[in-house]
Amino acid sequence: VIANRAPGRVIWLYGLSGAGKTTLAKQAAVHFRSAGRQVVVLDGDELRTGLCRELGYTEADRFENVRRAAEMAKLLSSQGCWVLVALMTPLRSMRELGRQILGDSLTIIHLRCDHATCAARDVKGLYRQAASGQVTHLPGCDMVFEEATNNELSLDTGTRSQEECLNQLMNLMQ
Ligand code: ADP
Repeated sequence: VIANRAPGRVIWLYGLSGAGKTTLAKQAAVHFRSAGRQVVVLDGDELRTGLCRELGYTEADRFENVRRAAEMAKLLSSQGCWVLVALMTPLRSMRELGRQILGDSLTIIHLRCDHATCAARDVKGLYRQAASGQVTHLPGCDMVFEEATNNELSLDTGTRSQEECLNQLMNLMQ
């Protein structure tokens, strides 16, 4: 830990594929940077091209993916960075693992967008491939996705505009 530097924070955005994790994380990063913060985005797709490239999509591999993202976020935030994690994190126990590793520096936010809306967006073509059996282990399809409960933070990315959701996210982090 570098002395005399305020600890950073970790904002963990989770939700189905196509819910808007990457979009909102990147937009929030721009805002935090313009407010003078050091910001790092840990995006699931990007982690999978390097740090986590040997991992697949089974539950065990997704746990390991979460663990690595959380440990990386811990190192970065302990040195003053604000870290935005954009990772599907489909199970409650995976979010709890993040909480165990990161403690109070962590804000966990569900991007709430129903399966039909995500499948209609199909940003990465995953839902089409899941429907034809080319892709398996997709949360919301053949793998469970556990939504936030009512007392947990969430943003309605399925029904609200990007601008509204970004504003709500900024307000949450004030
Ligand atoms: P994810 O990272 O969760 O898989 P992406 O950010 O890659 O999702 O894609 C989300 C898509 O949904 C983008 O095309 C984005 O423009 C669109 N979108 C529509 N409304 C919203 C919203 N309120 N928040 C974020 N993205 C939204």
